[in-house]
Amino acid sequence: MAYQTINPFTNEVLKTYSNATTEDIESTLTTEHALYKKWRNEPVVNRSAVLHKIADLLRENEDELGKIIVEDMGKLFKEAVGEVELCALIADYFADHSEELLKPTKIKSGAGDAWVEKHSTGIIMMVEPWNFPYYQIMRVFAPNFMVGNPMILKHASNTPGSAVSFEKIINEAGAPVGSLKNLFLSYDQVSDIIADPRVQGVALTGSERGGKSVAAAAGQNLKKNTMELGGTDAFIVLDDADLNEVMKVARNVRIYNAGQVCTSSKRFIVADNLYDEFVDRLSKQFADLKPGDPMDPETTLAPMSSARAKEKLQKQVDTAIAAGAKVAYGNEPIDLPGQFFPATILTDIKKDNPAYSEEMFGPVAHIYKVHNDQEAIDLANDSNYGLGGITFSGSKEHGVKVASQVETGMEFVNTFMYTLPELPFGGVKNSGYGREMSNLGLDAFVNEQLIVAVDKPNLDNLAGGLF
Ligand code: NAP
Repeated sequence: MAYQTINPFTNEVLKTYSNATTEDIESTLTTEHALYKKWRNEPVVNRSAVLHKIADLLRENEDELGKIIVEDMGKLFKEAVGEVELCALIADYFADHSEELLKPTKIKSGAGDAWVEKHSTGIIMMVEPWNFPYYQIMRVFAPNFMVGNPMILKHASNTPGSAVSFEKIINEAGAPVGSLKNLFLSYDQVSDIIADPRVQGVALTGSERGGKSVAAAAGQNLKKNTMELGGTDAFIVLDDADLNEVMKVARNVRIYNAGQVCTSSKRFIVADNLYDEFVDRLSKQFADLKPGDPMDPETTLAPMSSARAKEKLQKQVDTAIAAGAKVAYGNEPIDLPGQFFPATILTDIKKDNPAYSEEMFGPVAHIYKVHNDQEAIDLANDSNYGLGGITFSGSKEHGVKVASQVETGMEFVNTFMYTLPELPFGGVKNSGYGREMSNLGLDAFVNEQLIVAVDKPNLDNLAGGLF
């Protein structure tokens, strides 16, 4: 597919980029492999200053960088600037904490002095989506830069401007050539790179479909991989929840980024005593949304990222309605030329409706009525996905009791989903495996090398056996 920036608010084709050649790929692999070898002999802390400088440059250029995201994929400018600030926070966190987190850990053992060292492993191939065009890169870049794993980036074909800008900031900060190289790659070229012995890890964030293909290529070549995939996150409202508190977050957790967030609350599961009022209040909140120019601070509903994304969502909504879902609000076209999708609420979705199990990646909320906590938990878990979730209750303890029975990688009680560098991010089931961010993300592509050392062999001590 062509790498193109098509502004989804104006539909204007702003720029088209050429694909990488075989020579570009080979020279990148050669440079990055040499950098990996060099980095292996340097202390982790040596890279901190550059990562802090990257954070500084992101903050200094946040308006310009935010505008590039808006042109690529249409999110609200204020959200785009917030994303740049989050990237700076992640860079600072890994610059400050990696040395400590990567220190060897001692093991008490009869074998002798034993410890685990954490070493870099080689080049990482990262494949990233368009919905958070900088943040998705930074989640992999910051930890692996500190570990000492050089990276190749294949960004989504509709956010090439963001890919180029991110790489430019890294270079301007003085990162060694090859720390991260953006290449406009075809799917086959991604597979070829994964097969190269100099590449030792694969990180993908994207759809289940993309994840399956790239994980298959990684598996075929025995390359460790992390998969951050889609979700149908449940937002559970328990019978003792305070709806005034719930309504402070309910709209945003569905509408933020035009609803194109892996951890958007896609299924609201509401206790029967609160159901009618919840549907009514969410409908009113959706009615207050103002679609328009994403650069305008008054706009609260951004266009979707592309014509293709909008068409796919409309098809899913039409199919859901044909299968019996009711439209409680929305699904009326927005009279603007950009790729706007109306904020929509669907109810009465039964198990045999395709919408019951699909991820709708846009501003469409599904609302379900349940009669007790167990029904809420069972419904939340009746999904092939398991990324994140939110539970609201009048008591934190009650909320936690329910949340910890939901089969996901991340649960938040009485609050919205946070993403912060110290919190692990990732899911279970078809939402993927592995974690990004936190110490877990830092360890994703390290060689946890066991060292056992004694002064002389003790052949009387064979309790563990000889191997
Ligand atoms: P996608 O189609 O899977 O694309 C994601 C990336 O994978 C893009 O760079 C895409 O390239 C590439 N790709 C897809 N198939 C490939 C293949 N066979 N070989 C090599 N590269 C391939 O995902 P999307 O629909 O654009 O993104 C939205 C999805 O991402 C949603 O499901 C969302 O929930 C999920 N997501 C998950 C997380 C998380 O952390 N769990 C975060 C954000 C988004 P092209 O653009 O060139 O096709």
